[in-house]
Amino acid sequence: MINLDAAATLLSSLPIPDYQSQAMVNFRFKPSQVTLLNKFKAQRAKGLPIRAIICKSRRFGGSAFVDGIGLAHCVGEENVNAMIVAHRKDSAEALFRVPLTLIKGLPSTGYDLPEPTQKKITFPHPGGDSTLSIATAGDVLGGRGAAFSFLHLSEAAGYQGKAPFTSLLSTVPDHPSTFIVVESTANKKIGPGEAFYSMWCDAVYGKSEYDAIFIGYIDDILCRRDALEAKDAPVNEDEKDIISLVACDKFCGRCGKCHKALECVAWRRWAIVNKCQGDVELFHQEYPATWEEAFITPQNPAFTHDERRIARATIIEPIATGRLERDISPAADPGRPIILIPDDRSPLKVWKFPEERKHYYIGADAARGYDNKDYASAFVWCGETGETCARYASRINPESLAELLNFMGIYYFKAMVAVELTGNLGLWTQKVLRDTYQYPNIYKWKGRDDRQPVGYVTRTSIGWETTARTRPMLLDAFRTAIRFGRAKLYDAAALSQMEAAEMIEGKWEVRQGHDDILMAMLIGWLIGEQWHSAGMASSKLLDLENEPIDKKSEDRKVINNADLDVQGQVRAHWWKIQRYIKNGPPKPGARLDGI
Ligand SMILES: [Zn+2]
Repeated sequence: MINLDAAATLLSSLPIPDYQSQAMVNFRFKPSQVTLLNKFKAQRAKGLPIRAIICKSRRFGGSAFVDGIGLAHCVGEENVNAMIVAHRKDSAEALFRVPLTLIKGLPSTGYDLPEPTQKKITFPHPGGDSTLSIATAGDVLGGRGAAFSFLHLSEAAGYQGKAPFTSLLSTVPDHPSTFIVVESTANKKIGPGEAFYSMWCDAVYGKSEYDAIFIGYIDDILCRRDALEAKDAPVNEDEKDIISLVACDKFCGRCGKCHKALECVAWRRWAIVNKCQGDVELFHQEYPATWEEAFITPQNPAFTHDERRIARATIIEPIATGRLERDISPAADPGRPIILIPDDRSPLKVWKFPEERKHYYIGADAARGYDNKDYASAFVWCGETGETCARYASRINPESLAELLNFMGIYYFKAMVAVELTGNLGLWTQKVLRDTYQYPNIYKWKGRDDRQPVGYVTRTSIGWETTARTRPMLLDAFRTAIRFGRAKLYDAAALSQMEAAEMIEGKWEVRQGHDDILMAMLIGWLIGEQWHSAGMASSKLLDLENEPIDKKSEDRKVINNADLDVQGQVRAHWWKIQRYIKNGPPKPGARLDGI
């Protein structure tokens, strides 16, 4: 098993050319490399194999560092095989130069090596030699048989398709002693970079065991220019983003944080012109400030820059990861016999534990499952505080989702649960939830059905149906809540889907990537807006027996609903005209009602 501290000590005694002067110096870790080391150590401390995916800004030195760890692994252990995979032949050579340079320092530590070949370094040990090899992604296809305890996939967003990932990742056994790092600068969401993007999202959403590590240019101490060059900042939305990420809350302009923010802005202005030929989108990809930016944001985002910025400022780490189980101990609470068992591999993330006398709202989206790309998800909001409490996303079938919702609902004090019904899988989930588990608090449609436009039929009274009429409601309600600071999002995965949402022909959609968490999150919020008596995030604890109705929030809802009814009527009218155009004028006797 790689001893990470010993590896770091060995590495810091070995020679490497200095990035700026090219003079040989001992390997001194940059802050971002220390960050990596600490992330690896944290996984090891949990007894997990080291699995990391790194989305990075150009040239922060991550590859060299990871390869150094691989080298130390081969020096320290007998009979192990480490593999570095490069995108292309030329990059393989450049990449392998790092370990080849580092081993020149080994004799000084009392360790002598046979002459390495161009593709392999052999480390003699009494119990069997260890090897560190280099390959290109194209070469390794079909190369089965070998087992690696250390695998570094470099510039992985450049690999062609999913195949190299599939064949390479399967060469590493699922054992706590093993180490896999997938690392790259982003290369868009579709095309060659898609496999990397999808793997990155799985890691960010906690759906895989990989730790998602983002290293942006803001973390790179070489990406700085004189703060005075940016004394007029911010001049655009991107600069505002950097300031909100780096500067102090007040943006006083005098403290260390503000100074750093201005240095970053100054470097950004310089690099856009001098490194990216004035192409801001290219700059975002090569030198991202946030990982969302790395994958290039949509042309016509569904949420405004300000809304995304406000949401981003709320993001925090979950306080627990675990699974919900029935408490079978004698001490179990008969009314609420569900407990959370800590489990680092679970797709359930918790930000707030349930509290008595609070009200919780759960939105759920069953996997649509046309391919195995889709996830089922559930999202829990607290009505009183407007805080995200928990989020679940995983590839599970509708019945398992129903079981999860039953447990989750009971755990959160009989939370109201709304399942997205569009498509039969959601209906199935709801049916199991209602009939098998007899869950007591399933969302009932709260529209103004009595004032529906003519011809509008409500097909079901329980559950959430996303239609042309209700889809905009989801977005509008949440945008308002974000703008007024009522919704505290916390969840980075939900944020990333918010960032990816775009308006296409008047309809919000996530064209690249997933919208499962976003959907569950928006539904959860809206049902809270509809049913939470004082309005979401009123911060008022309600009396369970005698819930007061907040007149103002009721009025607000009536106005909102009236607004939506007008939209609905316009739509119904439009459809009638379309039918008229398609089918010709109505037959004699039929009435032109509504046109
Ligand atoms: Zn300041």
